[in-house]
Amino acid sequence: MRTATGPGGEQHQAASVPDPEPAGPVRRGALSPSRASDFMQCPLLYRFRVLDRIPEAPSPAAVRGTVVHAVLERLFDLPPAERTAPAARAMVAGQWESLREREPQLAGLFDETSPTAAAELASWLRSAEELLERYFELEDPTRLQPAERELRVEALLEDGLVLRGIVDRLDVAPGGELRVVDYKTGRAPSELFEAKALFQMRFYALVIWRLRGVVPRQLQLVYLGSGDVLRHTPDEAQLLATERKVRAVWAAIERATAAGDWRPSPGKLCKWCDHQVRCPAFGGTPPPRPPGAVPLPVVAPAAAGGPDPA
Ligand code: SF4
Repeated sequence: MRTATGPGGEQHQAASVPDPEPAGPVRRGALSPSRASDFMQCPLLYRFRVLDRIPEAPSPAAVRGTVVHAVLERLFDLPPAERTAPAARAMVAGQWESLREREPQLAGLFDETSPTAAAELASWLRSAEELLERYFELEDPTRLQPAERELRVEALLEDGLVLRGIVDRLDVAPGGELRVVDYKTGRAPSELFEAKALFQMRFYALVIWRLRGVVPRQLQLVYLGSGDVLRHTPDEAQLLATERKVRAVWAAIERATAAGDWRPSPGKLCKWCDHQVRCPAFGGTPPPRPPGAVPLPVVAPAAAGGPDPA
């Protein structure tokens, strides 16, 4: 409540003027686990994706992942007894159609002028169904009642860095313990890439800890491609270490931005990179930064969009 002084010097309470919200830290930037991983993999890849926002061609595997995630999200709209493999399979074609309507550029995913297009589409839809069938070998959704699905999370750290992401599923046990679940449509990673998957999960755990004040009891990665489930129990020390790592990544991004130094870092993952054509490591030349490009990665509340937070 503020006190105002009247024209005659009298004081009265300006009851209709609420106190302003205490100012929080100024938002300096936002980071999701995917974008942090991009920078750690290759600073130039981060620049192309986050600063230049160069579109990437959707791949059948990535779009199939989106469809499978959509089915798993909606599966839990059904009464428990109806969450069956046939019900999940029956949703695949409809979710693909919905996605295609929302994102018309996906219509070109299969060359409809090709005589084999119909067979390719049918085979692709079937592969999505197979991933869902595997899900039922790993979990029994009739016994689960997720607290949240496709949950957008965002935490503002005291130094102004925003951590954000989308959690596939959050389960809350009767005792209040939290379980963070992430579905992967690929295979369980080799040891080389397991650290990357763990970093992503600890990132989510850190955001949830900051938001809810509770360290999640379990992090669970469900690999539908290979039928593996990786479980991890994080502790505060690990999450504090993750926070230090995220801050260090952000500091490196700020340095790269200030210096305009986005050097390529070629490696095994380059074969899946859409940007080889403009990458110096492959004889290409990065385009000039587009006019009006922000000097720092976009800082925006999650609801306002911005780079893909996942
Ligand atoms: S091709 Fe490799 S080095 Fe070049 S931008 Fe992509 S990930 Fe980086």
